[in-house]
Order: sequence, then structure tokens, then C-alpha cells
Amino acid sequence: MIETNIMHTVEQARTAVLEHIGVAPAERVALILDGLGRVLAEDVSASYDNPPHDNSAMDGFAVRWEDVKDATPEAPVSLIVIEDIPAGKVPEHAVGDGQASRIMTGAPLPAAADTVIIVEDTVGDGTSTVQILEAEDEPGANVRCRGEDMKCGEMLLTAGTELGPGEIGVIAAVQKTWLAVRRRPTVAVLSTGDELVEVDEPLEPGKIVNSNTPAIGAMARACGAKPVLLPTARDDEATIRAAIESALACDLIVSSGGVSVGDYDFVKKVLDDLRAEEVLWRVAMKPGRPLYFCMLQGKPYFGLPGNPVSSLMSFLQFVRPALRKASGYTEGEWLLPEAPAVMEHEVGNPGSRRSFLRARLRRDAEGRLQASTAHRAQGSHILTSMLGANGVVMLDPEAHVATGEEVRVQLLGDVY
Ligand code: AMP
Ligand code: MG
Repeated sequence: MIETNIMHTVEQARTAVLEHIGVAPAERVALILDGLGRVLAEDVSASYDNPPHDNSAMDGFAVRWEDVKDATPEAPVSLIVIEDIPAGKVPEHAVGDGQASRIMTGAPLPAAADTVIIVEDTVGDGTSTVQILEAEDEPGANVRCRGEDMKCGEMLLTAGTELGPGEIGVIAAVQKTWLAVRRRPTVAVLSTGDELVEVDEPLEPGKIVNSNTPAIGAMARACGAKPVLLPTARDDEATIRAAIESALACDLIVSSGGVSVGDYDFVKKVLDDLRAEEVLWRVAMKPGRPLYFCMLQGKPYFGLPGNPVSSLMSFLQFVRPALRKASGYTEGEWLLPEAPAVMEHEVGNPGSRRSFLRARLRRDAEGRLQASTAHRAQGSHILTSMLGANGVVMLDPEAHVATGEEVRVQLLGDVY
């Protein structure tokens, strides 16, 4: 528990938030349909040696290296072809002195053979005899050994790993059809405000479009959570209370707007009436100062500021790590990755809170990250500053950074 009546640093606030986040229970899903993007809740190990047998890496002839080691184009070695081994067939004969078996890529190596000569290094039709033109200096060429990929019993994936296509392939290879993964946390997304119309409603005088519900919902989904978009709540206590009570059906609640100190900001009052346990109020960041975080009947509740950019930046700093923890990621993967970057222009933070600027990052010819925040204005209402923003430049209070100087950035997406 931290003091609630002072403004917290981003780190203090994040630590306090994360202390209140539990990990979602596990569920079982079918690997092929539902595995992608899920976080493992169990370890996965190899159930057999893979490849299951020594096999050929190329189309050619399985031979005994001793027989062919001296072969040259001028003095080829002639061998008798005893068998044809396509992929999927079990060889019937060991390769004896002066013998070879025609073999295809992936086919099991016949007994006594230790080398595969690629078809390009041979002449002849290959059905009864074959001339070997050259061989490597050692046995073993073009042979893939049993267990080279994975050994039976070897731990391949640990709980907390996110499943991408590569992981799906490995799990399929060990013939696991059902997997324990973390349940995707459900996130109630609630916008508040009398001024809001929905994306498909006419924009009457005095109104603005509710962009927070779609944007916050999208961020929740991008974190692997399941957003539940609630109807917008008008600025009156009873409506907000009913909305928040319905939001309790979800694992975690994110509202935007209504937490400041304006006359119509009822969210905190309602949470108080519902006996929420306040954890923190106000964070020393810009944008995003008016963050309220509490535990409501055992559910984490984030009251984000209403300004569109503030709510998204607060989401990235606090809700995202919470969702990553809840989703079962290992601790090192909760926060956005950070890196040093070089500013492409002068930038400063005259204020007393750390600023988080939407940035466009690119790599220069030397591979260094270059950051620019000049694509749009940086106000907390300038939603278009999010366009193309693949990073966040962080500036401490009173920082002044000249062109070419280094800053710390958070990475939001791919950098090219
Ligand atoms: P509030 O925190 O409720 O005082 O709102 C702060 C500012 O954010 C005001 O300019 C609101 O109009 C704006 N705002 C609040 N909620 C939303 C929303 N869902 N979508 C877009 N803008 C919003
Ligand atoms: Mg409001």
C-alpha cells in the first residue's frame, strides 16, 4: 500500500498496481485452432527424439565413406545400387562393401551407411550402378542425426512463453493436441461523459466523438486480453454506478473520463460509495496525471483520464503491464521494452512531471535508433500524434535535449 494523497512517480505507481494483479487461471485449448498468441501455463518437453531416425538431408546415395573417400572426377568409384529408399520407407538392407542405396531427402539412412553423396556428385542412371565423383573429407556428410533437433525428455518451452507460429510447430511436432494456457483476462471498457456521441451517431453541437472506447478496447486486445465494450455512461451518479456494477462481471475494469476534479467527475465518488479500496491517485507523468487505481470487490479498477492521448499513454504505462502479468507472461516481459535513441531535433520538458512523447523511431545507416516527435503537436487532445508512433520518448522534468543527443524511448512497435 502506498500513500494515496501524494503524486507518485510512474515506477511507484506501476509497482503499486502490479502488486494488486493476480494471474488468470489456466484453461485448455486446442493447439491448432486456439494456440496462437496464447501464453503457456505448462512446460512442454520432447516426447521422443526428433528426427526419430538418422536420415538423409539431400537426394543422393547412401554409402560407406570408406568406400568413396578417394573418389575424384578423374577416377570415380563405382558402386552397386541395392535399394531405392524414398522418404517414408524403412530401408530393408544394410549397405555392404562396394554398395550404395539410392535415397531421397528425409528418408531413413540404411544400416552401415554413414554418408550421403548428393546426386550432383554422381553419374549413371543410379538404378543398378552409380559412379561417385567426389566425397567430403570426413564421414557424415548430408546425414541428419537422430535427436539432433530435440532429445526425448528435453524441456522445450516453459510456462509463460507466448505461442507464435514457431512454438506451435514445435508443440505439434511433439504431438500435443491440447495445451494449458492462461485464460485471456476480460477487460470492461467504459467511457463516461455527457459530451460523447458514438462513432455511428450524429455529431450534435457541443458533442465530441467517443474515440476512447474503441482505442482502449483495441489496446486491450493488442495485449492479448478480451475487451468488453460497455455502453457509454452519462455524467450522473446513478448511471455511472450502474455501469461500474455491470463492469464487475469482467476480470479488470478500465474507465476513461470523469476522474478529474470537475463538477461532473463522479467516477471517484461512485467508487468510494461502492467501498473501493483506493490504491493510488495521480501520477507524475504528462500526459496522464489524473490516474485513479483502486480494488473494487477484488477487481482491479483503472480510472484513466478522459483526454484521448492521456488515456492511451496511461494504459501503456499501467494497464498493459497489469494485463501482461494477468496473462501469465514472465516478469521480464511485463513492461514495454526500452532502448536509447538519438533525437532528430531539439526537445525539452519544462514541467515538473516526466513527459511521454509520441515518437516515430527509425534506424539510421549505423543501426542507431533515431527519434522524432515532430510529426504532430503533442497535446493530450491531439489523437493524431498516435499515428505512426512506434515509440515513446521519455523526458525527465526540466530535461533539455539537443539535436543528436540521447534519450530513452519505449518501443511500441516494429522499427525500420
Ligand atoms: P474528463 O476526464 O472527463 O474531464 O475528460 C477530459 C477530456 O477528455 C475532455 O475534453 C473530454 O471531452 C475528453 N474525453 C473524455 N472521454 C472521452 C472519450 N471517450 N473519447 C474522446 N474524448 C473523451
Ligand atoms: Mg468527463
